[in-house]
Amino acid sequence: MTDGGRAFLAEETVARVIRPEICALSAYAVAKANGWVKLDAMENPYPLPDAVKARLSAALARVAINRYPDASGERAKRALRSALGIPEHAGLLLGNGSDELIQIIVSAIARPGAVVLAPDPSFVMYRMDALYASTRFVGVPLNPDFSLDCDAILAAIERESPAVIFLAYPNNPTGNLFADADLEAIIEASPGLVVIDEAYYAFADASFLGRVPERPNLLVLRTLSKIGMAAIRLGYAVAAPAWIAELNKVRQPYNVNALTQAAIEALLFETGWIVKQAAAIRAERARLEGALARLPGVRVYPTQTNFVLARVKDADRVFDGLKARRILIKNLNGWHPLLANCLRMTVGKPEEDDLLLAALAELDPSK
Ligand code: PMP
Repeated sequence: MTDGGRAFLAEETVARVIRPEICALSAYAVAKANGWVKLDAMENPYPLPDAVKARLSAALARVAINRYPDASGERAKRALRSALGIPEHAGLLLGNGSDELIQIIVSAIARPGAVVLAPDPSFVMYRMDALYASTRFVGVPLNPDFSLDCDAILAAIERESPAVIFLAYPNNPTGNLFADADLEAIIEASPGLVVIDEAYYAFADASFLGRVPERPNLLVLRTLSKIGMAAIRLGYAVAAPAWIAELNKVRQPYNVNALTQAAIEALLFETGWIVKQAAAIRAERARLEGALARLPGVRVYPTQTNFVLARVKDADRVFDGLKARRILIKNLNGWHPLLANCLRMTVGKPEEDDLLLAALAELDPSK
């Protein structure tokens, strides 16, 4: 042994100290796709317009890198409020991506015996953050058409009295919006907090943001990631100030760095470019959905997001065939029984989607 046995000793101590449920996990895998057609992560495919880029670089150059960021992110919050229609008297909390806000919410409620509830399949971090916080996660299966099984959720609320319910609206990875009346019934019945996660709001026809002032147990979560700013890692939570005041105590003091705070002001100075890009993505989504549906053996599910969920005969074979052609999408086969042979494809630029469609046609998804 060249290191005097230190590696062994480390492994032995790690196994004794780290919780077994953590040891059993694999780290979040992000596929490398340099130079590939990358349609796996719901990114906006368009770069910043030149004028926005120029404003951004000027703003970043002014940041005092030697200083800690503004711990409360006041100016960034003001920019977000005026640009993104956040109700005036609602509380606002910024996060290092909405991922961090989900973790903050779960750690704030994680008293012994607390339950985190969400439909299943949905965004995986609800379950993961519950595990990190040693909190019980209860997943309620969706109906086979991916709608909410509202009766089952209401029964689970009655049985489990969850501290928090996460509802992705629209849902990832299924792409659909749940029925408004179901969500209203869940908010009404819930004894705890209901988080409506609107990561994909820019591509959807509905939102609960305007209902925050009327609903004392509603928190709406949003992110800049899907509308062209994934790199700066900025998510935000909107809820009654009483919720935000407590969640704010769980937040790390400088969770949103100064470059990101400065970037928010510059990027949201005017929002025409965001609206234009989102409209382009929605139009391209319609084209992609139509073209996918015309391929043999492909069932396309309705989507209100910037991705399309489709079922094929053999998702593993199609996914591998696309990878061999340097096209990366998400293979959901094996994630959940309801997602057998399902593939998730982010809407790309028209030329990227053309490459995807041509490759799919060549691979014949009916086989
Ligand atoms: N919520 C949902 C439903 C998502 O799909 C995602 C990203 N895949 C997130 C939250 C997290 O996004 P971010 O951390 O980039 O804000």
